[in-house]
Amino acid sequence: MVELRTPGEIEAMRASGRVVAQALQEVRAAAKVGSRLSTLDDVAGEVILGAGATSPFLGYQPSFALTPFRGVICASVNDVALHGTPGPYRLADGDLLSIDCGSILDGWAADAATSFVVGIPRQADLELIETTKAALDAGIRAARVGGRLGDISAAIAAVGRAARCGISTDYGGHGIGRTMHQDPSVPNDGRPGRGLPLRSGLVIAIEPWFMAGGGDGYLVDDDGWTLRSADGSRAAHVEHTVALTPDGPLILTAPPESESGGP
Ligand code: MG
Ligand code: MG
Repeated sequence: MVELRTPGEIEAMRASGRVVAQALQEVRAAAKVGSRLSTLDDVAGEVILGAGATSPFLGYQPSFALTPFRGVICASVNDVALHGTPGPYRLADGDLLSIDCGSILDGWAADAATSFVVGIPRQADLELIETTKAALDAGIRAARVGGRLGDISAAIAAVGRAARCGISTDYGGHGIGRTMHQDPSVPNDGRPGRGLPLRSGLVIAIEPWFMAGGGDGYLVDDDGWTLRSADGSRAAHVEHTVALTPDGPLILTAPPESESGGP
């Protein structure tokens, strides 16, 4: 069932979104060559705890998972696209890191992800990240009252396809509210003008993840979580929680300073 949020509920979700934005900013600042992924998990955990929030990731066990998730972030390195566990791995020069993080604050969830390179980047990795971010931007722009859910999916895929990225329609975006994963599902490919009518008060996580090799295949490690590109190519994943309002899409997981509108 698709639920719609009141302006007051959206404001409460924005507060949760700020926690996620701050956690991602601090993880990014802490991520250096030699950093352990577990240390980055601690950094995010301190932000979440310090804000009086809890993590919807820690202990999460959806139907596909063999074990509960062990972390407050997913930390996915290089060919890992999604659901990487923040273990003892130390980041190496040029690693492409995708960090996914969530928060529950006052009973409201928020969910966002970012991708970046530590150390000296390869040009191809920067291009992959830029393409994935451009797809997220296009998806957000398509999240307009009066449109259809397929408009968002199609906008995401068009950007990925133009850059010859591999696109899987598994593990896309989702509705979000009192819990992290709700209806509707927001696939990363689809047909414009089709699917759920987009109404004011709909809150969804939009989250393109692309693989540089161009194939859509992936493998999951024995841990039941770590999802890698089948061809070994690098992957990137970015996400925002977005509310549809009469004034257009509102990014609930944007960093606080981006709200000021500048001087
Ligand atoms: Mg999500
Ligand atoms: Mg996420």
